[in-house]
Amino acid sequence: MTSPDRPATSAEDALALAQRAGIHRIALPTPFLVGRVNCYLIEDEPLTLIDTGPNSGKSLDDLERSLAALGHRVEDLELIVVTHQHIDHVGLLEILARRSGAEVAALEALGPYLSEFSRNAAADDEFAQVVMRRHGVPGDLATVLGSLAAAFRAFGSSGHVTHALRDGEDLKLRDRTLQIFHRPGHSPSDTILWDAEREILIAGDHLLARISSNPLVSRPLSGPSEPRPRALLQYMESLQATRELPARLVLPGHGDPVLEHAELIDERLRMHRRRAARVHQILDGAALSAYEIAVRMWGNVAVTQAYLTLSEVLGHLDLLVASEQAVEREADGTSRFQAL
Ligand SMILES: [Zn+2]
Repeated sequence: MTSPDRPATSAEDALALAQRAGIHRIALPTPFLVGRVNCYLIEDEPLTLIDTGPNSGKSLDDLERSLAALGHRVEDLELIVVTHQHIDHVGLLEILARRSGAEVAALEALGPYLSEFSRNAAADDEFAQVVMRRHGVPGDLATVLGSLAAAFRAFGSSGHVTHALRDGEDLKLRDRTLQIFHRPGHSPSDTILWDAEREILIAGDHLLARISSNPLVSRPLSGPSEPRPRALLQYMESLQATRELPARLVLPGHGDPVLEHAELIDERLRMHRRRAARVHQILDGAALSAYEIAVRMWGNVAVTQAYLTLSEVLGHLDLLVASEQAVEREADGTSRFQAL
């Protein structure tokens, strides 16, 4: 059945349209800079929750109250779908799955990661240490950031995936079919759910309305971590693919729905090319590490948000290297980039 709804023109409209399709946004608090995380309850069979929020009493309490307002309990959940591996999205997975007995669906490659979350999160942090030191982040700063990351790990949790999702396959609920697409870039496991009949896309952090989704340099889910994954290149490719979906509504992992996704994607792609051009200017004959470039571009933010800004700059350097405008050379354990 195709809904006769007119196109949504505001966030309220969009959320109302989603509700008429049985999809309810539940925004849960997180301890992170990004603010609240959006979970989505789909009233269908099975009763489905997309993402869980972080592992905190406050989030669980908020989730329980939001479910109650919709006439449900945690125990009623029958399926939990995870959009990606980040702790604000998977933190309550273990508790919710145990209390409800719900099936847990996630990208096939994410299963082993979630089954040993702490060990894998620790390996991610070690990988980040290697990347930071290789790209010029001072050792003491890298150490402090490493301890912060370790402290935040408690907001995550393990989980047992009972339904492995594959790229391109259909996840069938009673009243709808959600097509699964793997769209890596923000994280290696980014998974989006496409309802072709209703033209609604549930996107996790793949596309956010007000903030550009950071293509974090991450340890691959499987296989060797060398060479370093080109997160931004991968992300831009993923965005191009998503641009082709005739979505009238994108429901993201943070903030308001996206109404004009193709325009937003074009804007994001232009911004990345603009920033790459800026990095090219900064190089101007010098051989600089990614951290040195980040400090020139971002000032103090490059210190307080070192991994984020480093990932961003490395992404733009990868763009320059891919278009033969720069080269990367390693000497004495530090990578430096030079404009061509
Ligand atoms: Zn997130």
